[in-house]
Amino acid sequence: MSYIMADVYLKALGAAREVGRSAILLGVEGKLILLDYGVSIEGEEPQFPLPVPPKGIHAVAISHAHLDHSGAAPLLYVSGQPPLISTPLTATLSDLLIKDFMKLSKYYIPYEAPEVEKMLESLVPLGYGESYDIGSVTIRVLDAGHIPGSAMIQIETPSLNVLYTGDYSLHDTCLLRGAGISEFSKADVVIMESTYAEYDHPPREEVEREFVKTVLEVVEDGGIAFIPAFAVGRAQEILCVLAKYDLQVPIYVDGMARTANDLIAEDSHLLREPSLFKKAVEMSTKVKDWDHRKKILSKPGVIISPAGMLQGGPSEYYMEKIMENEKNAVIFVSYVIPETPARQVIETGIYASPTKRGPVKARIEWFDFSAHCGHSELVKTLDSAKKGSKVVLVHGEEEAAVKLAELSVKAGHETFVPRLGEELNLKV
Ligand SMILES: [Zn+2]
Ligand SMILES: [Zn+2]
Repeated sequence: MSYIMADVYLKALGAAREVGRSAILLGVEGKLILLDYGVSIEGEEPQFPLPVPPKGIHAVAISHAHLDHSGAAPLLYVSGQPPLISTPLTATLSDLLIKDFMKLSKYYIPYEAPEVEKMLESLVPLGYGESYDIGSVTIRVLDAGHIPGSAMIQIETPSLNVLYTGDYSLHDTCLLRGAGISEFSKADVVIMESTYAEYDHPPREEVEREFVKTVLEVVEDGGIAFIPAFAVGRAQEILCVLAKYDLQVPIYVDGMARTANDLIAEDSHLLREPSLFKKAVEMSTKVKDWDHRKKILSKPGVIISPAGMLQGGPSEYYMEKIMENEKNAVIFVSYVIPETPARQVIETGIYASPTKRGPVKARIEWFDFSAHCGHSELVKTLDSAKKGSKVVLVHGEEEAAVKLAELSVKAGHETFVPRLGEELNLKV
């Protein structure tokens, strides 16, 4: 096989000049390691990465639970059983998100529950800093600071070092500590995300203060602050912000965020401040059932519920109700994906779902609580990487990734922005 000839063989099976369906096949010392195997759920129909024969793979490493990194992994267990390397929390959260994806998808998904089970049975659970050896190849997981359990994957042999960032953040959030920068200086090859290659996030503290001020204004004026949020990561971050500022208002959590909270609480040692998360959970109330859901709409308070883009989950129900009263607010707290109801609300003030369409009378707000590196953090990463090392940019829109590549070259790295299916044979 061609990869035996090069020091590092790499094939982009997904996330190539796009955000979503992360999947990179890596060959070192005759061993093939799959880095993430995700599904893109941004469009109408889920997009899977390019296929790979599971029998040839020595291990699969999943960086974190988001479906664009984990959602296609069960496919590898239809006809094979490679070891699954991830943190234990990534495994449990992936299980939660994948099963929800299977339940909600209107399209055919080419795997079923037994494959998900087989995948979880194959787990090699690693804590941060721990490693797993395949012959002379060591695979280590390092804290990525993106969502609870998220990891960067380091692949080491006696002669080379490859670092795959997955999604990562160098900045601290209320929930997590930012990723460390020191390992980048050791890597011969850095495979990094480039989601926000052209954009810097505003200072975190400012965002938090403005957000809390808005929430208080709405609730003190007798309204409901409705926060559609992704179940894993963002919902917990928002809870922690509310706890940090000690907001004495009713706070409700609904949908899959409830289970995600329970799973994350079991592994709270991974968080920046476990006691803050504990306080945040104690300050909030889980919505129990439909009666409860209806009841909490009758008085002022905060409701946090998936889905973040107002597609699925109890968020559709809440949105239909709260949009009718100008005292209420719908507060978005993440990047709003094009062609989703959330994006439409922000751009046009109109909410449209299968069951309702109309102008949103409630206040509409958006805050940038990103858990990805912004432009400056990506540049800092490139500056910290070893001179002469190779950089492979993935998980970014084409234009943004290509622009970042120019900066990477200036920082002294041979840089690649692979196209879908492209193979690289790197000499280090
Ligand atoms: Zn992610
Ligand atoms: Zn991602």
